[in-house]
Amino acid sequence: MTDLTRLSAADLAAELSSGTVSSVEATRAHLDRIAAVDGDVHAFLHVSDHALEVAAGIDRRRSAGDALGPLAGVPLAIKDVLVTTDMPSTSGSRILEGYMSPFDATVVSRARAAGLVPLGKTNMDEFAMGSSTEHSAYGPTHNPWDLERIPGGSGGGSASAVAAFEAPLALGSDTGGSIRQPAHVTGTVGVKPTYGGVSRYGAIALASSLDQVGPVSRTVLDAGLLHDVIGGHDANDSTSLADAWPSFADAAREGARGDVLRGLRVGVIRELPDSGFQPGVSTAFRAALAAMEARGAEIVEISAPHFEYGVAAYYLILPAEASSNLAKFDSVRFGMRVNVPGGTVEDVMAATRDAGFGDEVKRRIILGTYALSAGYYDAYYGSAQKVRTLIQRDFAAAFERVDVIATPSAPTTAFKLGEKIDDPLQMYLNDVTTIPANLAGVPGISIPAGLAEEDGLPVGIQFLAPAREDARLYRVGAAVESVLVDSWGGPLLDRAPVLGGAR
Ligand code: GLN
Repeated sequence: MTDLTRLSAADLAAELSSGTVSSVEATRAHLDRIAAVDGDVHAFLHVSDHALEVAAGIDRRRSAGDALGPLAGVPLAIKDVLVTTDMPSTSGSRILEGYMSPFDATVVSRARAAGLVPLGKTNMDEFAMGSSTEHSAYGPTHNPWDLERIPGGSGGGSASAVAAFEAPLALGSDTGGSIRQPAHVTGTVGVKPTYGGVSRYGAIALASSLDQVGPVSRTVLDAGLLHDVIGGHDANDSTSLADAWPSFADAAREGARGDVLRGLRVGVIRELPDSGFQPGVSTAFRAALAAMEARGAEIVEISAPHFEYGVAAYYLILPAEASSNLAKFDSVRFGMRVNVPGGTVEDVMAATRDAGFGDEVKRRIILGTYALSAGYYDAYYGSAQKVRTLIQRDFAAAFERVDVIATPSAPTTAFKLGEKIDDPLQMYLNDVTTIPANLAGVPGISIPAGLAEEDGLPVGIQFLAPAREDARLYRVGAAVESVLVDSWGGPLLDRAPVLGGAR
């Protein structure tokens, strides 16, 4: 019998709807896989104890002839930044250990309504601050390609779960790259939708003007299928767009079939210096571009002079918003409380925040409150907002000349656990190519581009499109994916080391 964990979500869904496989079987296969490999990978913070029951409910509805959505019965991993009523939601922080939410995030309730089966909650950097998942209060996740290496961050748990075949699909969040950079280092697909395209309601806020929830998968079509389920207007999110979105799964199917690369204008940013990039990353990126060119795409050099200030601006705007968003963890309303005998309420609050937050979170709260303080507001926060506008203008000018922009999804392949943990600046610089999209609100996708020659680890290529043009990314992403997978003779993940001996 086929190993059900090796199927794409689309293929698994086809088996489920034709009745050859039940959701209970599919869910059990993934739970078994989690039991076999997650001791090594540590993608999950919590595994659902009623996934099989949920799956059985879907199977019953299917036998009763209910109309079910395209992903009904397919298992799903959920990043722990998204609140759930039936499993704890910690956002990777000690301060929320064991926290049970009274409501589901909108994306979670939409996934449940579509019949997806939540498998569990995935590990992440505390409050989504980081690029390696090493800032999780519950210990790091390991990269299935090499367990000594980082899985990316902050959504390393979701990316590793999908790369290690523990789940066919996962939900992530991307504030500065936390879906796309983990996809890059694990050989998976990740999409950051247009800002406002997917509801943030119930996503524990990091930086509200940058946060976006999005899909994590092994194929572009699978990401599109999940995006179709979670996207669209939500009255509970004040920044949610009212747009009627096209089907992203259809866009992916069209891309895989059609000749969308012919005549496609692909912008490559002149100012992104090759020097900051690992040679094997640049080589894989250039090879992917050449493959696109061979199919009729036109590679156009564009200028985005302000991108280089993106990281600096982001590390003022993000901490400012985060310091304000995290003020609600005050020992009274949510989670942990450290008692201080005879102390004032401020003493309790301070002791709780001291014990409950990790170093990176404290660092950013201090940065953020400083940047927002009266005497410095114009110098720091105000200037950063101006840079943000300049980056938006760079994008607007670029998209007059090209249909998509392409970059490597990150400057290096997966680095070793421990390598950058004591050097926050090096960690921050990992997001140089992903951050501009969050600052401008435009959508981005990372798909596997190949393996770096020097270390054999995955490299991702990122495509960016104008706001609201997410469908274009699915068309182009699926087209490039099919060209590259053909040239490799099969998916990149087929070459990942076998974990747990089970696959
Ligand atoms: N690595 C970036 C950071 O540390 C991005 C995080 C994210 O997208 N949540 O802020």
